[in-house]
Amino acid sequence: MDIPRIFTITESAHRIHNPFTPEKLATLGAALRLEPGTSVLDLGSGSGEMLCTWARDYGIVGTGIDLSQLFTEQAKRRAEELGVTDRVKFIHGDAAGYVSDEKVDVAACVGATWIGGGVAGTIELLARSLRPGGIILVGEPFWRQLPATEDIARECDAESISDFFMLPELLASFGSLGYDVVEMVLADQDSWDRYEAAQWLTMRRWLDANPDDEMVQEVRARLTSEPVRYAAFRREYLGWGVFALMAR
Ligand code: SAH
Repeated sequence: MDIPRIFTITESAHRIHNPFTPEKLATLGAALRLEPGTSVLDLGSGSGEMLCTWARDYGIVGTGIDLSQLFTEQAKRRAEELGVTDRVKFIHGDAAGYVSDEKVDVAACVGATWIGGGVAGTIELLARSLRPGGIILVGEPFWRQLPATEDIARECDAESISDFFMLPELLASFGSLGYDVVEMVLADQDSWDRYEAAQWLTMRRWLDANPDDEMVQEVRARLTSEPVRYAAFRREYLGWGVFALMAR
């Protein structure tokens, strides 16, 4: 049970597997006015940076579930490094259908909404773990510019233009699901670069260290094409943000 290996190669050096910097993650924690003892559930917790730094900086307690064994191990190591192992727990597993035994104050899925079959399904899933009056966090892309063609959408790694909304429509869609949008922190092009460009050095070093690996061709092709493709498409067309929601 694991995610495709390409991600654990290209993102092995990432602490945040999203177009967010540590500063933006801290901004989000501050924006949510987290109190010590606030409980957080994180589906698709990656390498655990959100829970670990929020435990250190804001005193939250939390549980993360992630399908990647490597990322989950990194999350546990990060908790040790930051001295928060008594406050956060990481589980290696499939978060699809995961509902916590005790209701939490904040239920999050940051950049992994396929876990619930899309944004609406993920919000429904998170709501099942949430205490009344709690906050749902969803991290999701949106179009900064609407692609003129389906080809452009595909170059942005979307299957189709209809995969994502423009920002106003995305915010309106949360309203249609019965939620107030109570906060948001958005990525910008610089924070996208930290997510994307950091993969290039990781790939280059991996290629140099693993010349006989069966993934060499795929990684080589990516490193050759991604900088230009990213600059031409995702960097210009795709936005991303984390949205805080409360049921109306
Ligand atoms: N929220 C984290 C990770 C986002 S990347 C961060 O912001 O850093 C998406 C994550 O979803 C990856 O860590 C991947 O391993 C995880 N994932 C993918 N499918 C999953 C599933 N079915 N259940 C749990 N985690 C999953």
